[in-house]
Amino acid sequence: MVGVFPEVDTYGHEQVSFFQDKDSGLKAIIGIHSTVLGPSLGGCRMWNYTDEAAALKDVLRLSRGMTYKAAVANLKLGGGKAVILGDSRTQKTPELLRAFGRAVEYLGGRYISAEDVGIKVQDVDIMRTQTKHAVGGSNEGGSGDPSIMTAFGVFQGMKAAIKAAGVGDSFEGIRVAVQGVGNVGYHLCSYLSNAGAKLIVTDIYPNQIERVVQEFGATEVAPDAIYAVDCDVFAPCALGAILNAKTIPTLTCKVIAGAANNQLETEANGFDLFKRGIIYAPDYAINAGGLINVSAELDGYNKEIVLGKVSQIYNTISDILTHSIQQSIPPHVAADRIAELHLAEGKNSKRMKVTS
Ligand code: NAD
Repeated sequence: MVGVFPEVDTYGHEQVSFFQDKDSGLKAIIGIHSTVLGPSLGGCRMWNYTDEAAALKDVLRLSRGMTYKAAVANLKLGGGKAVILGDSRTQKTPELLRAFGRAVEYLGGRYISAEDVGIKVQDVDIMRTQTKHAVGGSNEGGSGDPSIMTAFGVFQGMKAAIKAAGVGDSFEGIRVAVQGVGNVGYHLCSYLSNAGAKLIVTDIYPNQIERVVQEFGATEVAPDAIYAVDCDVFAPCALGAILNAKTIPTLTCKVIAGAANNQLETEANGFDLFKRGIIYAPDYAINAGGLINVSAELDGYNKEIVLGKVSQIYNTISDILTHSIQQSIPPHVAADRIAELHLAEGKNSKRMKVTS
């Protein structure tokens, strides 16, 4: 029999909890990967998984990712994530969301929930009727749409990356190819255009493209053409796994800096980029603006303070790239090492507190 502990061991989780509520049909798993730096925070995803093993795998992978994301951003937060098993279009009911809220409450603040795929702002509002440990709702003091802050963070991280790559100290005349001009991609185009960059954009929806062409004078290319387009920076803001054996050889850019999650199809692809001399700003470090934004609710949301914190992504990316050059390791490995260093420091200071 294959148990769940080997998988939990592999990722090193502190706690994995399964919740069931027969009346509402809730089946959920909450993964708390680490609370070393603070309470674990991460969105709740509602997805029609093929089976329970697939749901477990997803929550383990995603919650571990949140630990690294918070650690590299220097946040006093741990990594957690939740999954609700089911189709969000047909099975999401207020009863189910309330049952999920009670599950979160049961964990007493070790896990703080938020939106993710299949869970919207209104759903968080329903959870919040049962627990105070959910952020990203429409309540007063709520942080609102995170995509502007995510885009601002990507803009800052991109600035650090073009400097490190020797492309320039400013965006004036820099050619940036943006893949996906949805929520984050649109705001990123706005920041870049204001800073003097030349935009090349693609999307699968013509109306999304139209607004950036009209508002920012962007040039449109077909979705498949974005990789090989002549540019200085490639900004993936749509899908994951787009940096792979097929696309990497065709890239002409010197820098990759975008918001999409899990851009590297495999770890090895990060080494391929490094060998090609393309500077890659690790996705989870450069796209932390949304997490910084939502976590600010815990201290009383203040937009100015959040902007200041998100602009620190410039320093985070600079540090990662400096580390990468000094150690001759790809940036995605450098980012992991910095996150692990912060976690080790957190562990040490916790031990000191217990013994002193
Ligand atoms: P979104 O759905 O608003 O935008 C994605 C855009 O990509 C859409 O316009 C879509 O049509 C387009 N797209 C889809 N497939 C494409 C393809 N094959 N080629 C070109 N375009 C394609 O999503 P978003 O909120 O802007 O997020 C974008 C990415 O950033 C996602 O990977 C998301 O996980 C990640 N991210 C978002 C945030 C945030 O604050 N929204 C935070 C962190 C990470």
